[in-house]
Amino acid sequence: TLTVGVLALQGAFIEHVLFLRQAIAELNSELSANIIEVRTAKQLETCNALVIPGGESTVMSLIAERTDMLEPLRQFVQDPAKPVWGTCAGLIFIGSKVVNGRKDQKLLNAMDIEVTRNAFGRQLDSKIVSLDFSSFIPGLTSFPATFIRAPVVSEVGENVEILSKLEDSGFVVAVKQGNKLGTSFHPELSESNAFHKYFLEQYVLKTYST
Ligand code: GLN
Repeated sequence: TLTVGVLALQGAFIEHVLFLRQAIAELNSELSANIIEVRTAKQLETCNALVIPGGESTVMSLIAERTDMLEPLRQFVQDPAKPVWGTCAGLIFIGSKVVNGRKDQKLLNAMDIEVTRNAFGRQLDSKIVSLDFSSFIPGLTSFPATFIRAPVVSEVGENVEILSKLEDSGFVVAVKQGNKLGTSFHPELSESNAFHKYFLEQYVLKTYST
């Protein structure tokens, strides 16, 4: 049995936990997975993979520092063997550079990406956009992607694959680097767990099935 952690320092972690539990049950894989909330280095040690939720990246970084989680998190997410998925604030946190960040905001440096916070501006604060992800999730031609004061990926390193770009703005909203996944929207706030299945199948189970 694998253990998949959801970082629970702050933000929308409960939704991820529920979606991951539902998704793993529906996948019917020979591999099973325990989904746990992670607040301590000890809990993190038991994890085979980690999801970092949306919320507020500056607050998340502050709480991680105050609870001595910054270094354990860095070590975990920088380990090439560990599948990691960051959504929204989590995407900012796993990046290597932030634009419009707070001066002392800390990053985990798991993906070679620059992320721009609050990229959609005030007017477009929050919106749900139907996006076609069928190029990497077979059959997913229309997925309601929820953007809430969302960041976008503004620079990518050589080893980063762009999974999804918005048609109108050209904003990059989903990226992959090895077994690290980053999305600027909140798949855990939609009514479909297709993204959670994709992460579990293509990142977690794939990594541990051999
Ligand atoms: N604007 C938030 C940040 O900078 C991210 C928003 C979100 O996670 N929904 O951290």
